[in-house]
Amino acid sequence: MKTICTTCPYCGVGCGVLANVDDAGTVKIKGHPTHPANLGRLCSKGSALGETFDPEGRLLAPQIGTRSAGWDEALDLVADRFSQTIAEHGPDSVAFYVSGQLLTEDYYVANKLMKGYIGSANIDTNSRLCMASTVAGHKRAFGTDTVPGVYEDLEEADLIVLVGSNLAWCHPVLYQRIVAAKKARPQMKVVNIDPRRTATCDIADLHLPLAPGSDVALFNRLLSEIHQQGCVDSAFVGAHVEGFEDALNAASGEDASATGLNHHDLTTFLNWWIGTEKTVTVFSQGVNQSQQGTDKVNAILNCHLATGRIGKPGCGPFSVTGQPNAMGGREVGGLANMLACHLDIENETHRDVVQGFWKSPTMPEQAGLKAVDLFEAVGRGEIKALWIMCTNPVVSLPDADKVKAAIEGCDFVVVSDLSADTDTAKIADVVLPATGWGEKDGTVTNSERMISRQRAILPPAGQARHDWDIMSDVGRRMGWADAFAYSAPADIFREYAELSGLASALNRDFDISGLQSLSDAEFEALEPTRWPITANAPKGSQRMFADGQFFTPSSRGRMLAVHQNATTKAYGETLRLNTGRIRDQWHTMTRTAKSPRLSTHMAEPYLEIHPDDAKNNGIRDADLVRVQSAEGEAVLRALITDRVQKGVPFAPIHWTSEYASDGRISTVVPSVTDPVSGQPDSKAARVTVSPMSPA
Ligand code: SF4
Repeated sequence: MKTICTTCPYCGVGCGVLANVDDAGTVKIKGHPTHPANLGRLCSKGSALGETFDPEGRLLAPQIGTRSAGWDEALDLVADRFSQTIAEHGPDSVAFYVSGQLLTEDYYVANKLMKGYIGSANIDTNSRLCMASTVAGHKRAFGTDTVPGVYEDLEEADLIVLVGSNLAWCHPVLYQRIVAAKKARPQMKVVNIDPRRTATCDIADLHLPLAPGSDVALFNRLLSEIHQQGCVDSAFVGAHVEGFEDALNAASGEDASATGLNHHDLTTFLNWWIGTEKTVTVFSQGVNQSQQGTDKVNAILNCHLATGRIGKPGCGPFSVTGQPNAMGGREVGGLANMLACHLDIENETHRDVVQGFWKSPTMPEQAGLKAVDLFEAVGRGEIKALWIMCTNPVVSLPDADKVKAAIEGCDFVVVSDLSADTDTAKIADVVLPATGWGEKDGTVTNSERMISRQRAILPPAGQARHDWDIMSDVGRRMGWADAFAYSAPADIFREYAELSGLASALNRDFDISGLQSLSDAEFEALEPTRWPITANAPKGSQRMFADGQFFTPSSRGRMLAVHQNATTKAYGETLRLNTGRIRDQWHTMTRTAKSPRLSTHMAEPYLEIHPDDAKNNGIRDADLVRVQSAEGEAVLRALITDRVQKGVPFAPIHWTSEYASDGRISTVVPSVTDPVSGQPDSKAARVTVSPMSPA
């Protein structure tokens, strides 16, 4: 029996895991008792990790078309086709689409290969679907994509406001921490702002069932009330904030009736927020996944900047990320509009620093295509060679059938993943067997900037190789032997840590240069550490902005003038479909579906629908229901409940054609995006519903 310390591969809480492995390869999981994120806790998904190593369905060797191939043949083909396409059509004719499931070292190599050597910024990630609006909001307010707070703030707060965040199901260990803190400190209050009455309402002292999409109206109303009640922290604003007057003017003109909230609930929320110094506002997909996501983020940040409630214990805005390494991906520039170490691709000085450090032949001067635009370019034939890593866009991207058709029409598509049976891998030209969680080795960063090690528990299945290794091999085959001569994740991590020291001299933000000289043994033993990690702070750091200094050119935090748009308007006869996650499945179920225990929670795709909508459409409980939009249709089981608002049904995102032939809800979601962040609005599809067998 041996015990490995590693990190859970699911959500952005980033829980530490102890994996006990016996000689037969049986893995038993428990929470790591001293990991700062979870202190021994795990949720249902994390505790079932040991049940997900079933080798059935694993791809064991590279596949070209439908036949197995050797690695040399497969990688020569990938390198040749990418080189040939670039030579004939230029660097912007190729693209990578990567994943928040990749480790930081994988992500770093993907970015270096695409941006520094191929010379295109056409690399984007499924994290675009998860938190791109927060990245954009942070950059507008703070100058950089910096998460201010730490998890302890959630336990020290006297008021926690959850916005568009079903923490009980989507970040369960953070929810458990709040439950425990609330028990220990009964004065703590929780407000849950969500159109749905979710499981998170179990700990809410107040549930605000706001009209979908009306968050800007609500937080503008709050800003206006903060001012009217004389609660602006004038000393903080005077010394550390810019844009206050413009933001307040915009907020003062806002009509809060768009929220649909009754006077009592609205007034209670405003008074609690204004009267409680130690307030943390937690937000996630209900804020981010919106055509006004970035403005929603800034409306929240405005209230914290106006009251100086940031950078202090128990205070601050707090974005919780969806994926295990959404943060690590952001840190290495895993979005099409960023460079490594939070540098800006459109800033010449930033580009020069990265290019000089990489000694790379080229560097794009403009942002590349964001996820939705990238697949539209594939559909138009502008992207002729596409490499998809560790993600399943045929299920997860909006307007999924259009995405599928685009991939099918692309000249050359490579997928690296655990299996050749995902909806995306099935239509690829080459499928490369990549290692998965429990085989991979490297680092991830959780929602509070904590870098943790993922360590291998078992050897790779069959001929599977690590993503960084596959990409480095392709880079070498494309002619860049020195730049991709990595032999282990520690090599990549040290390089990346060294670059962060140069970057922080420019943006004063992301810096892990204190780790650039780690030996292999020290990297292996690396304890969870929160960045910045510098020579002066070798053990990491606590919350950011404690000194009121932000990373804008003026060092002031920026308040933004934002206005509620028209997206709260009712859809008339049609319904407004909300989508999201359930407690016991993860993304497109590649791993969680292997655990029978997890599948007992919700066994099939379903539609939560209000009793009035069900009646109006002739739907009975448990009927099979056809959900249709202009984009496509899905068939789901009706679950009639007043937990959802009239006119606003809800469907989970997880099921693939492997598990439910018509259950891919993303087929009905249009590819409408936030104009600033490029994040798709996954919560406002215009749909009709009808029973499959009318009564
Ligand atoms: Fe894993 Fe998230 Fe559950 Fe923690 S809360 S065990 S990171 S899924």
